[in-house]
Amino acid sequence: MSYAGELTKAEFDRLLDRRGGPAVLVHGGAGTRVEDDPALYFAGTKRAAEAGLRVLLQGGSPLDAAQAAALVLEDDPQFNAGTGAALTSAGEVELDASCMDGTTLRAGAVACVKTIQNPILAARRVCDDTPHVLICGPGAEVFARESGIPQVENASLITPRQRARWEELHEQAQKLGADSVRKKIGTIGAVAVDAHGHLAACSSTGGTMYKRPGRVGDTPIIGAGTYADDHEAAASSTGLGEAILKVTLARAACLRVREGDSPRAAAIAAVGLLRERAHGDGGIIIAGPDGRLGWAYNTPRMSRAFIREGMSSAKAAV
Ligand code: ASP
Repeated sequence: MSYAGELTKAEFDRLLDRRGGPAVLVHGGAGTRVEDDPALYFAGTKRAAEAGLRVLLQGGSPLDAAQAAALVLEDDPQFNAGTGAALTSAGEVELDASCMDGTTLRAGAVACVKTIQNPILAARRVCDDTPHVLICGPGAEVFARESGIPQVENASLITPRQRARWEELHEQAQKLGADSVRKKIGTIGAVAVDAHGHLAACSSTGGTMYKRPGRVGDTPIIGAGTYADDHEAAASSTGLGEAILKVTLARAACLRVREGDSPRAAAIAAVGLLRERAHGDGGIIIAGPDGRLGWAYNTPRMSRAFIREGMSSAKAAV
């Protein structure tokens, strides 16, 4: 596992274990490429965490804060969500996103949407304006349109970098078959805690690269990709969705916090469970109601950053 961070691991651990909100922690996916310059990931995740904290300090809710952070990462083409998302085997972008409020347990998600630039905004509208939790496909796009969320052409979400990766994978698929292509991963997520122990989480993804059209992973599934309960913790998962779904990773981690683990210990245990029981690679970020934070991953890199009230800037690592 490679590590590049703005602080040493011990310094990070000390800051993560500190109690008291407000705080915002984000990830840019457990598929972060070892060959890429860490600075690209530092910049995006720090901007996102700082945007989230600004919302909290201006009196916004943890859900508003997590959403603000997720929005920054969806718009950053460096990350596999929103603009810059991975392509399906059909060469299109299909996006999933979810959000959850830990105080009320209200949650919202969209899956398999192709024309929404910021699916986290649509997930939030599902959460706030409908009796549903998850709306998918064309129905979600109609709902987003009715909610006034801007629609875009699918092609405008595709970056040259993702198109080039698709070309490579497509060539492999011609030889080996579509299901044999190694599915690279990536997602973004954010968790937020305020000074009163209220929690929220958001996640958003383009899913695994070269996935079958219509495939949906963990990201829009409450309990697997995203979970928040003020009595437990808030978590956002990343990694192979098919494995994460089987161990409902986000809830598994949150329950450990309720049982007394620190968020840091809960994250490590949850990623251990992912590997042992589902043979999966991935990672998770967690915030506890007491303001302690945690992260863990079993891939070479997971980009992430956090900021607490009183820090002059976010601190990042990959
Ligand atoms: N969990 C996402 C999915 O399987 C991908 C990722 O997080 O890297 O769709």
